[in-house]
Amino acid sequence: MDFRITPEQEKLRQEVREFVQKDIAPIIAEYDAKDEFPLQIAEKAFKKGFMNVRIPKKYGGHGLGLLDEVIITEELAYGGVGIATSINVNSLGFEPILIAGTEEQKEKYLRPLTEKLSFIAFACSETVVGSDVAGIQCKAWKEGDEYVINGTKYWITNAILADLFVVFAKTGEKRKELSAFIVPADTPGVKVGPPMKKMGLRESPTSALALKQVRIPEENLLGKEGDGFQIAMDTFNSSRPAIGAFGIGLARHALDLAINYAKKRIAFTVPLANFQLIQEMIADMVIGIEAAKGLTYKAAWLIDNGTPNITLSSCAKIYSSEVAMKAALDCLQIWGGRGYLRTNPVEKLVRDAKVLEIYEGTTQIQKIIISGAALGGYYKSN
Ligand SMILES: Cc1cc2nc3c(=O)[nH]c(=O)nc-3n(C[C@H](O)[C@H](O)[C@H](O)COP(=O)(O)OP(=O)(O)OC[C@H]3O[C@@H](n4cnc5c(N)ncnc54)[C@H](O)[C@@H]3O)c2cc1C
Repeated sequence: MDFRITPEQEKLRQEVREFVQKDIAPIIAEYDAKDEFPLQIAEKAFKKGFMNVRIPKKYGGHGLGLLDEVIITEELAYGGVGIATSINVNSLGFEPILIAGTEEQKEKYLRPLTEKLSFIAFACSETVVGSDVAGIQCKAWKEGDEYVINGTKYWITNAILADLFVVFAKTGEKRKELSAFIVPADTPGVKVGPPMKKMGLRESPTSALALKQVRIPEENLLGKEGDGFQIAMDTFNSSRPAIGAFGIGLARHALDLAINYAKKRIAFTVPLANFQLIQEMIADMVIGIEAAKGLTYKAAWLIDNGTPNITLSSCAKIYSSEVAMKAALDCLQIWGGRGYLRTNPVEKLVRDAKVLEIYEGTTQIQKIIISGAALGGYYKSN
């Protein structure tokens, strides 16, 4: 057993780390304060090859694995979970095409993502359903050689930036009778709402998406009619380790801020770092980061090596999110009143960490998946 990442992965990590220090750290607070997407960061990340890394080489991509994506994402999330989300969500968007697309669809829709900075958004959630994907209400039906889509999506990351959407819609009467469609953003009837005002993740735009009698050619269906639910679930199974990476990056940032402050703040004539109650919080952060890394890297490695473990992907997602939340809150505690100020970087970590327990399957949904596997007898520790 070898727990080391490869020299190429280590080099990649260093490159992203430098990019974060140089191009993200100096400006991210300003964009968070303005609720604005820093397009120039995404442009640079794209040019440096930190986006869409899992698109296969035959479609012009980098052909890297999920572990590579996790390493990149962890570093980007150190700089800001919002910008990391907006950069990484392209993977959530193109994953259904990787999973179920035909050669023609892959060539037509993946290649442009590798040629210039462009965005593909994943449109699954609605106002009436989030966790309950099977209950999607947006409808699609066939008319001649076209599909007509009618409905509204909600919470769509990067919708205002996207050239393409992968839209999940109901094509049958029963629950789970869903299909997935590729919808170009300039199709008549597609309308994106203004960015929502969120507690955190403010540099990542999230909007509603209205689809009013949207007509797309039948060749934009992914897989077969009725495959949509499974495509969505398979997509989440490979996207969850990246959420684990968001949590690790954020927790590492919290740890660094906590250490710096604890060493220089004097209380009762000595640095805070001398107090064992402070040391306990620091130790908890280190334990959490290392355990979250173990789960997340292993989940990604198993997927890269053709032996995906859905339970482990869920464990990585839930555990890393909780580590991030606790690390952010403990860091704020160590900073005391200064941690509560909007002019310092700590409160952003708290606001951003919370979303990790919500999107791409809430904490409760991960526990349902994990306990379902254990109780159903199909959980195996590999
Ligand atoms: C910033 C942000 C970005 C997002 N980006 C996207 C995106 O790009 N594309 C997209 O499609 N969606 C996106 N989402 C939506 C996200 O995936 C959903 O918010 C999430 O799945 C939860 O759905 P919900 O908000 O409707 O909560 P609900 O499903 O209504 O759940 C509410 C609460 O009830 C709990 N709950 C629900 N069912 C059960 C159960 N069976 N047992 C126990 N507890 C339960 C949940 O855990 C949660 O605590 C985004 C959300 C946010 C906040």
